[in-house]
Amino acid sequence: AKSQGRNRFAVYHEKMKTNNNEQLKLEADLHKAVKRKEFHLVYQPQINLRTNRIEGVEALIRWNNRRKGAVPPGEFIPLAEDMGLIVPISDWVLKQVCHDFKKLHRLGFQKLRFGVNVSPLYFREEQFAENMIQITEKEKIPARFIDIELTESTIMPNATSSIHKLLQMKKHGFKISVDDFGTGYSSLSYLNRFPLDTLKIDQSFVKSICKFDEDSSIVEAIITMAHSLHLKVIAEGVENEKQLDFLKKEKCDFVQGYYFSKPLPLDDLIDFFYKWEAEWIK
Ligand code: C2E
Ligand code: CA
Ligand code: CA
Ligand code: CA
Repeated sequence: AKSQGRNRFAVYHEKMKTNNNEQLKLEADLHKAVKRKEFHLVYQPQINLRTNRIEGVEALIRWNNRRKGAVPPGEFIPLAEDMGLIVPISDWVLKQVCHDFKKLHRLGFQKLRFGVNVSPLYFREEQFAENMIQITEKEKIPARFIDIELTESTIMPNATSSIHKLLQMKKHGFKISVDDFGTGYSSLSYLNRFPLDTLKIDQSFVKSICKFDEDSSIVEAIITMAHSLHLKVIAEGVENEKQLDFLKKEKCDFVQGYYFSKPLPLDDLIDFFYKWEAEWIK
């Protein structure tokens, strides 16, 4: 029994060591990635269900590592947060969004809004609002085209300071969305204290529309209550026609998901726009 125990420890230890080595390599790579600009953005279209037009896109970061290939943001964003790299990466995202905005603007897509995800760690930084304002001003982009996506758990703690920051940003024109809505613990009346524009219904509820009555009623309730608070609603993770029909019936404002398009590199997004306009706008 004793030797078995030692063996198990040895195996466990070996595994930990490789995990640590792998972790260390990835951290070193991430440091270089920031300097070498190994990131790029992809964009997922958001469709207005009333007009059937693409009125927004969500920017999602991608990292192609030489050694490991594509590393998903769910993996490297938490790492970047731990390593204190989230501020430079997020600033890069907003700058890139501003550049891509200008490119699309020149092509005639002049009303498009750009959703930008923000880490709670960055939002809590003193200089967060200042930085966002500074970048858009330097790039000469009207802030009303930028939609800042924050989760409930990002804005709920320290509500007073959150509200202060959000008001500062709203004053400059930024749009504010609550991401993954419904997974947190906030009541809608509490939410009403925050200066918000849009709720994004979490994918998990959208996935089980028409599968579980309970989840369908949650979606229905979120839409009704959001509208009574004069907030717009985006459903994300829409993958099939059943979900779409339900969301249309419930007067959801915007949809986003694989049913329409995966997140696309800018050039593919432009192609998608032209095809979409040709097909739907007649
Ligand atoms: P999120 O903000 O909730 O983004 C939505 C995720 O769902 C994206 O995954 C998107 O590709 C995926 N998705 C979109 N439509 C569908 C669908 O119909 N079905 C399914 N199954 N998935 C769909 P992605 O790009 O891997 O991003 C994961 C998370 O990483 C994001 O969740 C966000 O929290 C974070 N993230 C991505 N880009 C950034 C960024 O630039 N900054 C920060 N701070 N976080 C980011
Ligand atoms: Ca998001
Ligand atoms: Ca989300
Ligand atoms: Ca209803």
